[in-house]
Amino acid sequence: MHAASPIASAEKAEAGEQGEPEESVESGERRGVRSMSGIDPSAIDCASLTSTGQVRSSNQDYFDVFESAKGDRLFVVADGMGGHRGGATAARVATETIGEVFASANADAADTLFDAISAANARVHQISVDDPELRGMGTTVVCMLFGSDGRVWVAHVGDSRAYRLHREGVEQLTQDHSVVGEMVRRGLITREEADVHPRRNEILRSIGVEAEVDIDVAQVVATPGDHFLLCSDGLTGPVGDHEIGEVVRENTPQAAAERLVGMANARGGPDNVTVQVVAVPETGADARPATPARRSDPAKRRATALRWLSGAAILLAAAATTWFVVSNLAAPDGPHDSPAAESPTTP
Ligand code: CA
Repeated sequence: MHAASPIASAEKAEAGEQGEPEESVESGERRGVRSMSGIDPSAIDCASLTSTGQVRSSNQDYFDVFESAKGDRLFVVADGMGGHRGGATAARVATETIGEVFASANADAADTLFDAISAANARVHQISVDDPELRGMGTTVVCMLFGSDGRVWVAHVGDSRAYRLHREGVEQLTQDHSVVGEMVRRGLITREEADVHPRRNEILRSIGVEAEVDIDVAQVVATPGDHFLLCSDGLTGPVGDHEIGEVVRENTPQAAAERLVGMANARGGPDNVTVQVVAVPETGADARPATPARRSDPAKRRATALRWLSGAAILLAAAATTWFVVSNLAAPDGPHDSPAAESPTTP
């Protein structure tokens, strides 16, 4: 069976476990043939970045990117919890398990995501039962699957998020499985109040804590030109949705990942922060034939037309003057070979 090819760095969890505030960066850009419909996973541009932040001594976030034999691509971000070693172990084991199941799956995308995350839950839970040092460990997980059939899926457990960023705005694709997330949905507090609420770190669902877990899986509306972001709550605490939208839309995935992590760290870096930025090119199957860059705006078209008209008027005036002068000079002597007389510019 074809093994998943982890595109992202595998060193990040080890760095986190050793408490080194290292950052790992991974980006890739590929161009491929358009799929029959929707988004072509081989054409998307992506970048991933994680940082320990300014306060924590270790990085318990983890991320990876996997590609299956049939060309599906899977992005995963996990945010571990449960002690120094436990959180990092839970996040890494969950991500690796999801990648393994994804690579060998024959089911459709939704079932694959469900099976992969269920397997991750079972494995993390079993390890925590077997190893007293890791008891109670758990992790969030958020996954986006870009299928070779052109469809895009999101699945998650916990408060790590996926966003779609497009011309009309910023759309959070996941609902936080957290105490404050539930309070926002019930209208008890605002999103802004949730960001600073004392219970903001309490999550209601996580991978590995119990033998079974509820998983949210959904198909995502995606069109060429869209951007997507997966992230841990170390980003969404310090950096608002509006700012995230601006940074992701206005930068390459690599530059956006660096700027977002930089913003979180500049604002105190209170938590581990991990981002994955995915850009879908404009030239996907459903893209309009003309890219916006090639279209001139109406004001420019009007200005160009005016320049042509005034140029033609000057030429006509010059031709008429020449014809008048030449015909007046030539008239007394009768017809003769004059270049001006043969000019095709006369009407
Ligand atoms: Ca976190």
